Amino acid sequence: MEQHLPQPLLELVQDISGQAAELGQRLYLVGGVVRDLLLGYPNFDLDLVVEGDAVKLAQKVAETSQAKLIAHHRFGTAKLRYGNSTLDLATARKETYARPGALPAVTPGTLKDDLIRRDFSINAMAISLSANDYGELVDLHQGRRDLEHRLIRILHPRSFSDDATRILRGVCYEQRLGFQFEAQTARLLKRGLPMLDTISGDRIRHELEHIFEENQPELVVRRLGELGVLARIGPSLKGDGWIAEKFDTARRLKKSTQLPSLYFCLLVYSFSENDIEQFLARLNIPARLSRVMRDTVRLKTSLPILDKPSLKPSDIYYLLRGYEPVAIQANAIAAESPKAHDYLQLFLAKLRYVRTALNGEELKKLGVSAGPQMGKLLEVLHKAKLDGQVRTKADERRLALSLSLGKER
Ligand code: ATP
Ligand code: MG
Repeated sequence: MEQHLPQPLLELVQDISGQAAELGQRLYLVGGVVRDLLLGYPNFDLDLVVEGDAVKLAQKVAETSQAKLIAHHRFGTAKLRYGNSTLDLATARKETYARPGALPAVTPGTLKDDLIRRDFSINAMAISLSANDYGELVDLHQGRRDLEHRLIRILHPRSFSDDATRILRGVCYEQRLGFQFEAQTARLLKRGLPMLDTISGDRIRHELEHIFEENQPELVVRRLGELGVLARIGPSLKGDGWIAEKFDTARRLKKSTQLPSLYFCLLVYSFSENDIEQFLARLNIPARLSRVMRDTVRLKTSLPILDKPSLKPSDIYYLLRGYEPVAIQANAIAAESPKAHDYLQLFLAKLRYVRTALNGEELKKLGVSAGPQMGKLLEVLHKAKLDGQVRTKADERRLALSLSLGKER
């Protein structure tokens, strides 16, 4: 901890631990950060577990410091925000699964309960932050040994049927860390594939979003394909080399905020319009993203129109203006025709930003009356601007006058 965590963060954690002690509670660092500390990888997402009331502790800490508190009383969890860092505090919990795939029933528990409910041994370690055994590793499931052997291992044989999202999570860690599934875990994973049907669309989508935050999500997607996970989620989903190549291109091009949407679009690129509806429903994809994904497939079927040697910029603009930009980007990445690719790219980089210099107000001053005629005129000016027939405001004024005078005559 001393080596890998920034000093202010460490002091903060020690302060929280002191306050926990005053409440008679023990505090632990748990989960991913413990794994990454042992691996020597940077991770400042600190998850803390307290044997006691996490919300009460967080409130106490917030009262005596600069921290901003967000409490979730119902879940016994709280977030403390200090400048750029956030700490997650949770009450140690015990979970029981009434039926496969359901959300577990949660009751307060001990650290031991909290560790056994976790997905894999490498994520089920804790470090004590209490004064009497500060820094000691709590490793009840041989997580450290598995880290050394580079293995992903579940904690009990029912793990994947309790919660089949762990199948997706496991593959994510396998690929991110370059680990392997331990033999029994690999067998149970294969046997557990049908349990994916018990998982709600929201939860599967959430895991895909998690995967799309990876540095190289294509590795995960490819492996999910290989293991038969993708086919179980959507019959038309594929994780082949094509996807891998396109994901890689997407990453070089796209601002990170839109990258996850672009990955979703590329994932469904080969779908028919029917396949896509099924997939959107299965994953309960929100309206905004659904629109982008539908547009992707709709535009793909219209691409042949763009496969012509000499389209005018205005033709390209009016063909593409109704589609979502991310859908156009997905098509630019995936289109086979170099011509179509260039047209799509031209639209994204330039054409969509082209505006006339004259607006409706100024046209009125030139004597054009408001209404359909004005709309028509603006469109003609816009096309002329797109096609380079007018450049300056004066050019536009001349064109507008000649056209409206032409009409009057
Ligand atoms: P990452 O680096 O991907 O964030 P993480 O280990 O921090 O890895 P999170 O998704 O942030 O993963 O979850 C935090 C911890 O919660 C995990 O380390 C794991 O112990 C536990 N966890 C999360 N999801 C599950 C699950 N479906 N079943 C059991 N435990 C889970
Ligand atoms: Mg995390």
